[in-house]
Amino acid sequence: MRVAIIGAGPAGMTAALQLCRGGADVTVYEASQHIGGMSRSLDLWGHRVDMGPHRFFSTDARVNGLWLDVVGRDYAMVNRLTRIYYQDKFFHYPLRPFDTLRNIGLSKAFACTLSYVKERILRGQSPHENESFESWCVRRFGRKLHETFFKSYSEKLWGIPCDELSADFAAQRISSFSLPEAILSAISNRRAAQHKTLVDSFAYPFGGTGAVYDKMADQVRHLGGTIALNTPVRRVVHEGYKVTGLELAGHENNCTTDESFDHVVSTMPLTSLVRGMQDAPSDVVDAAAQLRFRNTLLVFLNIDSSELFDDQWLYIHDPKVQVGRVTNFRNWVPDLYQDQSTSVIACEYWCDHNDAIWSTNDDELIERATNELRSTRLLNSERVLAGHVERLPRCYPVYRRGYRKHVDRISDHLRQYSGLLPIGRYGSFKYNNQDHSILMGILAAENILNDARHDLWNVNADFTQYHERAVIAAEGLISQPQVSSHAMAIA
Ligand SMILES: Cc1cc2nc3c(=O)[nH]c(=O)nc-3n(C[C@H](O)[C@H](O)[C@H](O)COP(=O)(O)OP(=O)(O)OC[C@H]3O[C@@H](n4cnc5c(N)ncnc54)[C@H](O)[C@@H]3O)c2cc1C
Repeated sequence: MRVAIIGAGPAGMTAALQLCRGGADVTVYEASQHIGGMSRSLDLWGHRVDMGPHRFFSTDARVNGLWLDVVGRDYAMVNRLTRIYYQDKFFHYPLRPFDTLRNIGLSKAFACTLSYVKERILRGQSPHENESFESWCVRRFGRKLHETFFKSYSEKLWGIPCDELSADFAAQRISSFSLPEAILSAISNRRAAQHKTLVDSFAYPFGGTGAVYDKMADQVRHLGGTIALNTPVRRVVHEGYKVTGLELAGHENNCTTDESFDHVVSTMPLTSLVRGMQDAPSDVVDAAAQLRFRNTLLVFLNIDSSELFDDQWLYIHDPKVQVGRVTNFRNWVPDLYQDQSTSVIACEYWCDHNDAIWSTNDDELIERATNELRSTRLLNSERVLAGHVERLPRCYPVYRRGYRKHVDRISDHLRQYSGLLPIGRYGSFKYNNQDHSILMGILAAENILNDARHDLWNVNADFTQYHERAVIAAEGLISQPQVSSHAMAIA
């Protein structure tokens, strides 16, 4: 059985590994020169860094079992410390009631409580159809808390007002979280009852997030699979509704690989996949044209200090600065950096292709990031020794209200093709974390090897599908049946 995989990110590498283990003949085509996609790591100034903060967390025993199998013992548990910077103050995130109260003061806390109670009495809990992110948050938390803790950050991230953003974003990332649950959890500190995002430690590989996928690539090659880097795929070739091969985007001539494939697992952007399909109906092409991805600019700075702030990352809600999140890689596994007197941090900026900042030159971006950090006093007299910029195009699928009917139209069309399996964050237009993409890779391989018939379009949409639950701890995989599978994270 011959399988082509488009993309060597978490979804593609997981599918490749599982398929090689099952005896398939696998070739991975990767457009860039790297393994790992958005989850790759790189070495900068003697530090190992990721493309922004990459916390791996899952409650799915299959995902965690595979992760541990690949990583072995080469990981440490990280005690999560993340805070929100807003109006010159730092709020613990996930929110802690007493810390929040101290920071916002009694009168604003009273106003927040009033607005919360008002929403609960007036509107209750029932979901509204085609609801916006804003109305979802206001209904759950009250308008004042929404404006303080969700609005400015979400608008920086997505580049559209919260009332144009779909509630699906909240349902995927905030889900069943509620204010009383947060307060109860903080007061009682009952770990078993903790919400997923209130779980405060996570496993992190010594070689950075990308080490997971580099190790998968080693195993794929060892098992006879091929990984072709710098080999972008232009389109998937099909005869009628049967997938037969690929056309590569050559430097000069586009060429169809002379190999034929029984299956193609695609993690290339769903929009590009559709554009390349021959004879796609015009309403499917139009639906793809309606979908938009948001870009990330990462400005890495090497700072002449080993003691900046203690968080692994900070959410910068303050609308006075454009930076949205700041990661301090020194704080992930501090033992790795004891001999180093510097810290590497990454400032994240989110934008569209036509925003001026996307084409701003590196020196100006480094200067902007430095100035913004100084204005927030995250940097004071410390010197910035060097800077480096990474550009991640199309990395956030924008859940604009109404996006789902476009994705549904596309998925209805693509379901007709035998041998085609679109998965991953780009590939299925889902706001995936690594665990969702790994799960998609596992299930795609099962569909091919065992004709398992998992509905891949439902992963990271159907919140009840997890079977056996287990989490990663220092001692390995431990069963945890009570832990909820819902997540709370705002990016
Ligand atoms: C700033 C940031 C922070 C994040 N934080 C977290 C976090 O804390 N925790 C977490 O779990 N996840 C996090 N994520 C998400 C995580 O990076 C993704 O979920 C994961 O990498 C998605 O894997 P994927 O394989 O679906 O897609 P990708 O990682 O995007 O991989 C797709 C691959 O396909 C390749 N490709 C695209 N088009 C083609 C083509 N035409 N031909 C050949 N190859 C192609 C790309 O080059 C890429 O290598 C974060 C992402 C970002 C951007």
